[in-house]
Amino acid sequence: MPELPEVETIRRQLHAKLAGKTVREIFIYKTGREVPAGEGFVKKVVGNRLSGVERRAKVLIFQFENGEAILGHLKMTGKFLFVNTDYIPGKHDRILFVFEDAIRVMWSDIRQFGYLKFVDSVELTEVLSKYGPEPLETSIEELAQRLMAPKTRKIKTALLDQATIAGIGNIYADEACHRAGIRPMRKLSTLSRDDRARLAEEIVNVLNESLAQKGTSANDYVDTDGSKGGFLALLKVYGRENQLCLKCSTPIKKIVQAGRGTHYCPNCQK
Ligand SMILES: [Zn+2]
Repeated sequence: MPELPEVETIRRQLHAKLAGKTVREIFIYKTGREVPAGEGFVKKVVGNRLSGVERRAKVLIFQFENGEAILGHLKMTGKFLFVNTDYIPGKHDRILFVFEDAIRVMWSDIRQFGYLKFVDSVELTEVLSKYGPEPLETSIEELAQRLMAPKTRKIKTALLDQATIAGIGNIYADEACHRAGIRPMRKLSTLSRDDRARLAEEIVNVLNESLAQKGTSANDYVDTDGSKGGFLALLKVYGRENQLCLKCSTPIKKIVQAGRGTHYCPNCQK
């Protein structure tokens, strides 16, 4: 699933072309993952001018000037692609947005877990309030504070919880723990003050480094031009089960924790 660096990459690309543009037309090829469904969605959105595209955690926010917005979650395989007028929709394409100046954006989704939800300003505020701090806009001290409670919670579980820190998923949780030399299955209560600070710092580092590479294409993720992110080759543990740790040459282990694969080095992560 796309995490902060991937969603932020898409946000920047969408914002650069769409900020200030009005939605002229919407074509729905496959309904069912937009709210309200079908014509209701078209009526709410067409004619609105986008002030910009923002992001909170892994959610894209298409912000309209009148305070309304569309929340967009890519989930597993959602994509936004800029397409030309001669583009022929494929079977996974769901909704085409035509903006002024003939700018066309196709929302497409193979696995169909993604969604687009139209919200008014009240609902928008309510939805966004449930997320924890944005790691790239928050001090290391404050992020470290978020890793204190609840004490019995496992580190990996806490990192995946969007209310603890926003935008982290499986890839960057595993990578940050490896960089910090900390086992993800430990409880928060076992972390020293230094551990928390080091982990918070490595979260910020790995997210920034991945963002600089336009994210990680571990599965289906591509940006709005259909290009892959460049961070996959730079991962140190995620997806490297049985391969040698790049720090200490011990084979990387993978365990299943809360239904998710967790990768770690049994030697240099304590
Ligand atoms: Zn190691």
